[in-house]
Amino acid sequence: MKYVLVAINLPVKNLFRQFIYRLPENLLQVGEGWRVIVPFGSQKVEGFVVQAFSREEAAEVLQKDNPDFSFAGVKEVSAALGTRPWFNDEMLQTAKWLAKYYLCSLAEAMRLFIPGKTSIRRKPVYQGGKLIAYDVEERLKARTVLAYNITEAGRAALQAGNPRAKVQMRALELLQQAAEPVDGKEAEAQHISAAVLRALAEKGWALRTEKRLLRNSYDRQAEWKETLQLTSEQEQAVLKIRASLDHFASSCPQEFLLQGITGSGKTEVYLRAADYALRQGRQVLVLVPEIALTTQIVQRFQAWFHNEVAVVHSKLSQNERGDVWYKMRTGEANVLIGVRSAVFAPFKNLGLVIIDEEQENSYKQEERPAYHAREVARCRCNNNSAVLLLGSATPSLETYYRAVSGSIGHLQLTFRPGNSVLPAVDVVDMREELAQKNFSVISRKLRREIVAAVHAGQQAVVLLNRRGYSTFVMCRDCGETLTCPHCAVSLVYHADEQVMRCHYCGNTYPIPRTCPDCGSRRIKFFGSGTQKAEQEISQMPGVRVLRMDQDSTATKLAHEEIIGRFVKKEANVLLGTQMVAKGHDIPDVTLVGILAADSALNLPDFRASERGFSLLIQAAGRAGRGDKPGRVVLQTYDPENEVINFAKKQDYETFAKRELAQRKVLLYPPYGQIIKLTVIDKNEKKAWELGDEVALFLRNRCEMEKWGRTEIMGPFPSGVAKVRDLYRINIVVKSMDMEKVKNCLSGSRFRTVKNIYFDVDPITA
Ligand code: ADP
Ligand code: ZN
Ligand code: ZN
Repeated sequence: MKYVLVAINLPVKNLFRQFIYRLPENLLQVGEGWRVIVPFGSQKVEGFVVQAFSREEAAEVLQKDNPDFSFAGVKEVSAALGTRPWFNDEMLQTAKWLAKYYLCSLAEAMRLFIPGKTSIRRKPVYQGGKLIAYDVEERLKARTVLAYNITEAGRAALQAGNPRAKVQMRALELLQQAAEPVDGKEAEAQHISAAVLRALAEKGWALRTEKRLLRNSYDRQAEWKETLQLTSEQEQAVLKIRASLDHFASSCPQEFLLQGITGSGKTEVYLRAADYALRQGRQVLVLVPEIALTTQIVQRFQAWFHNEVAVVHSKLSQNERGDVWYKMRTGEANVLIGVRSAVFAPFKNLGLVIIDEEQENSYKQEERPAYHAREVARCRCNNNSAVLLLGSATPSLETYYRAVSGSIGHLQLTFRPGNSVLPAVDVVDMREELAQKNFSVISRKLRREIVAAVHAGQQAVVLLNRRGYSTFVMCRDCGETLTCPHCAVSLVYHADEQVMRCHYCGNTYPIPRTCPDCGSRRIKFFGSGTQKAEQEISQMPGVRVLRMDQDSTATKLAHEEIIGRFVKKEANVLLGTQMVAKGHDIPDVTLVGILAADSALNLPDFRASERGFSLLIQAAGRAGRGDKPGRVVLQTYDPENEVINFAKKQDYETFAKRELAQRKVLLYPPYGQIIKLTVIDKNEKKAWELGDEVALFLRNRCEMEKWGRTEIMGPFPSGVAKVRDLYRINIVVKSMDMEKVKNCLSGSRFRTVKNIYFDVDPITA
């Protein structure tokens, strides 16, 4: 008889133990890594098999927990999910590592590898009249898709034209030109949604048919995809990565930092490294911070590798995501591009992981388990003998430190190819502007530059990292600022919808006419956000401005659409929050304006300088990528600020050295490791009591067990002390001896307390 140890996939935080089940006769094929359905309490739930063993071995395990156990209480596995294991050895190893490193349960770690929530109502699979499994991944076998042909009526409609149905006309044109029926994917590549094709069919302009999907096998013998001549630095980088792909774990490093200034052609290096891995018959994972902001990378990869490329993003349905996973597992596709969660995809034969803009915060998950995709990728690369390539102009200090201290390879791109050079940066002192009675968010210099650029037919990007119109509202008589009743933050005035909005809980409130505290009418709006800047910029002569921030992309156009319209020169100024600073490569952008450069630098957080510096460099890097030289105007109230000056010189190296020296003194990463504990409670007093208890416990253990250099800070209120009516109290542990800290926490009762969150390697502390 066979038994299995199962981790129960329930969103219960404190389910740290696993349970033993017996396999019935018809499920003897089930073993390690399978997904199963098991009875649990009164329900049937999903579980993951983490171990399989004989009756004797099972007895031994059970006896350890409970000396007088009996097999009588052991229940049977009900069914298998899928017809083979979901987790291979490597995935199981990675999940175990993750649970240990991030102090979560094994089930929580394993759940990350499952695409979407599992529903048990899948297609049942019977054998000899007996249910043996639920089918979860065989759907892809039918290799046909819906596709459309143009009809005679459609040709006539196209001929006649209709200026008010531009998209439909474009779609008809596409169908007319295509040699074969056009499917939804192909239309989407031309920015025509499948819904448009359906509309054409309903009008009788197109005929629906089925098309067999032919697998376009990647031609491994093919020559280089493009003749673009690599720069000597790019060439060197590619050669080193190839050597590592050839000789795993010899003297070649298996991890690299590709540090290249903005516009130095990092993507070109990624493409050739990926091409080489594919020629070896191995798969490539490309992680990007956000798909919508990196369409150019996706397009470049698709142009090179065609059907080999699969893309996952947050808009995919559960089934589509399942399909992508299936393609990677079977080797039907061999390049996966995706955001953070793509790091959990199943692979047939992973050879290379590329992480673009590896310093970006979006690689860190904020909810439990608070993993970092880079750390997971490193673990998976080790387990797969794959190479990890981290790219950035402004690497995280952790990665930079690993590179300069020699523990990973350091590849550098120090110049832009061709005639393109880094833009010159002018710093404008905004205190001067006030002295000259300019109360606008836009300095006189930037205004002149914007007008000149658009006059010359060029384009400008303007960064202001604050959305809304006015960022806070205050009473002049009593000094009261208007805050959200559910969160400890100021409300922001949004002119678009004429409301006050909380940026933490999203609630909106009416605009106050009188002070809620003293009744005064002298209410004043302070601080400028993107909406106000938009209003001011749009009044400049010759300017057509597009705004891109969370509000504009939520209600009107998606990122891609805004960028697309900007590329097509429907507007000559692109204004927005940090989204405008990232990824895009637009040759006519010659001017970048950075408003309120200090706002990002002055946050009470050890990574504020790193993040602020990175944003300034990224924003500046959007200028002058084509043949025309670029200029950057950087506005600040603090022109002496060191970080601003490093950004002005675009001097990452000196910045990093200074920052590393400070972190060493203060025991911050990469020197010390951090764990942040957050106690969350509706009741403020209870939150503090629990916080005190945790801190005292840690301090005692630190002393008793003689931890190496360790600092325990707190309890103190979180940066935002209340969100959605929940009080938040932090305790931060910085330590050179993190292994001991983690052991202590995993052995403690706090590990399973529901309202304490552990954040290992937090982004902010
Ligand atoms: P990064 O990601 O480093 O900011 P990109 O990869 O976007 O830079 O490249 C910037 C621009 O330089 C792109 O338009 C790209 O096509 C071009 N480019 C890259 N490598 C070369 C090269 N070797 N010769 C000419 N142009 C290149
Ligand atoms: Zn008042
Ligand atoms: Zn709120």
